[in-house]
Amino acid sequence: MSSSLETFARTKLASLEAGSLRRRLVPTTRGAQASATRGGRSLVSFSCNDYLGLSQDPRVIAAAQEAAAAYGAGAGGSRLVTGSHPLLSALEERLARHKGKEAALVFGSGYLANLGIVPALAGPRDLVLVDALAHSCLWAGARASGATVATFRHNDAADLARLLAEQRAGHAHAMILTERVFSMDGDVAPLADILALAEAHDAWTLVDDAHGLGVVEAGRRAPLEMGTLSKSLGSYGGYLCADRAVIDLLTSRARSFVYTTGLPPASAAAALEALTILEAEPERRARPLMLARRFTARLGLPEAESAVVPVLVGEAEAALALSAALEERGFLVVAIRPPTVPAGTARLRVAFSAAHSEAQVDGLAEAVAALR
Ligand SMILES: *Cc1c(COP(=O)(O)O)cnc(C)c1O
Repeated sequence: MSSSLETFARTKLASLEAGSLRRRLVPTTRGAQASATRGGRSLVSFSCNDYLGLSQDPRVIAAAQEAAAAYGAGAGGSRLVTGSHPLLSALEERLARHKGKEAALVFGSGYLANLGIVPALAGPRDLVLVDALAHSCLWAGARASGATVATFRHNDAADLARLLAEQRAGHAHAMILTERVFSMDGDVAPLADILALAEAHDAWTLVDDAHGLGVVEAGRRAPLEMGTLSKSLGSYGGYLCADRAVIDLLTSRARSFVYTTGLPPASAAAALEALTILEAEPERRARPLMLARRFTARLGLPEAESAVVPVLVGEAEAALALSAALEERGFLVVAIRPPTVPAGTARLRVAFSAAHSEAQVDGLAEAVAALR
């Protein structure tokens, strides 16, 4: 006889299955030159956020190995309890300098960063304005804050202005949450307009730079610049760069920082080495966008604005079928479905990396053109 818990899980799974929304883990390993191995077959992966290929860089791997050998595999506890490893302070200094900020704080992941930053700065008397297509962890942070949460239309500064005019006065503080480069659409936020509105209405802007760092960096910085160490830096962890006072406050108040274990030394060392390489090799930084534009030009798609290119399909089932057909041809390109993206906008999300060759990109473009 099955328990009510098991019945609940089975019923939920059946309804996900019916909507082509059930997700499954597929054993896959990654290697050099954007390769991935799945079911004994070698594929070219266009589904990783390793935009600069640094997760596979021998220098980054060696830095991680050396740190693990010298300091151990894990951090041993929260940084406020066991002590803060000098590698983390060094990484924070370098991140702050890269962003032109006074200070930085490293979190366990980008998700944990947003989950901690927003509630540490906003509460029930405040207003949090979120771009409609913002990443799940920005929403999680906004909801956890207990503030009034309002949504503005994606990348629509006029809609943001309307909400600020209507609602700002009734609240103590206001925050605006957006992304520099949107994770599923690859488009870029109108930050100059948003930051001007923020100044006019005394609102604090948090920009999630998960997909911009090292790839699309031009334009103004927000007062709160967060991101991840797990995409272009090829490691693991998250960060916030801001004024010193803000960082000091978060060090005491961000629950997802205070009550969780510090980053393993190896992850910090890898990110630090990756940041050094990122800054030293401008040709590497230019490559993902160049390859993405080569792809959009071949397919007659709107010109890529970042390393992420959506190929819209529509229904979840069709997106899954296209992804499976590409895998048959040797390309790993994930289908992205609701609830990650709005219903009816299931798509292939194609992510370009400095590790791809022109021939690999052309091969994918030909396959997509043939199958679409
Ligand atoms: C990936 C991602 C995150 C989460 O970063 P992790 O370090 O993977 O937890 C946050 N925001 C955006 C926009 C992302 O794409």
